[in-house]
Amino acid sequence: MKALVLEKYNELVYKDVPEPVIKSNEVLVRVMACGICGSDVHGLDGSTGRRIPPMIMGHEASGIIVKTGTDVRGWKSGDRVTFDSTVYPLNDWFTLEGLYNLSDNREILGVSPGTYKRDGAFAEFIAIPQHILYKIPEKVTFQQAAMVEAVAVALHSINISGVKTGDRCVVVGTGMIGIFILKLLKISGPSMIIAIDNNPKRLEIAILAGADHIFLSTEGNLVEKVIALTNNRGADISFEAVGKSESVNIAIDIIRKGGKTVLVGNISPTINFPLQKVVTRELKVLGSCAIRGEYETVLNMLETEKICVDDQISAIIPLSEGAVWFKKLFRKEEDLNKIILVP
Ligand SMILES: [Zn+2]
Repeated sequence: MKALVLEKYNELVYKDVPEPVIKSNEVLVRVMACGICGSDVHGLDGSTGRRIPPMIMGHEASGIIVKTGTDVRGWKSGDRVTFDSTVYPLNDWFTLEGLYNLSDNREILGVSPGTYKRDGAFAEFIAIPQHILYKIPEKVTFQQAAMVEAVAVALHSINISGVKTGDRCVVVGTGMIGIFILKLLKISGPSMIIAIDNNPKRLEIAILAGADHIFLSTEGNLVEKVIALTNNRGADISFEAVGKSESVNIAIDIIRKGGKTVLVGNISPTINFPLQKVVTRELKVLGSCAIRGEYETVLNMLETEKICVDDQISAIIPLSEGAVWFKKLFRKEEDLNKIILVP
């Protein structure tokens, strides 16, 4: 089969590789669409250490089952499917506690951090364990289904936040995940949604996604302005979708005493943390990791058109041209949202 292989750092090659051999509990999926994630772009040059070559990236995918293992039940050839990006063990303590996204020895598709290597979906075929499969509703396209992972990550953070009707919410960082947090907040009933980013173009998209107010992170008196908008108390909940000291500190500075901040951004291993502010204001700082079963809800929302993902797809490209588009994303030379590769 053909695949886009990360042969060494900064070198993606479209080439022939052996087709995956399925285990008895797995299905073989013909990949119909696979999105390029920001983490794939960051993985390209080795800066994250999570894409050790040679390997095949890609974890935001959809396709058609073409073969089933002998122990597979309830799935057959021809089924249109998407799948969780996390392959989690079923007999793990955390999985049994309902926390499969935190299970020990879980593996992410298309990731190779040194402790394991699992080839991803920038390929014609991928082997997938049956317990992470989700059926794609008839009305939902393969491209839309390849967007489900990103929306599910955003929805998980909303679920972690426990947002209530009437809450005032702030989203710091309006990349793909931040935009989907805004879209999901819009239908979760807060009374005010504020978006903050350092890129004015992203803030224009934030307005389309549902933000009532937008601020540049570089703006003078940013914190005072947000607090003035929220009865001079601060927001009830903030979401941080960048993962850097500056943006995490903004997310903490603009919430009210006793408020919550949900941290989704994850690109820095450590940051400057305002300990005394968090302790003396009794703030709740909540981590949100990946996805815990939000796939089905997102697929239902796509089917019933409660959420739109099409406006976040910049281009649909043949897998053979993937390397060129990875470079474009890496160099940030154009304003690109999601690029979907089709084998
Ligand atoms: Zn991703």
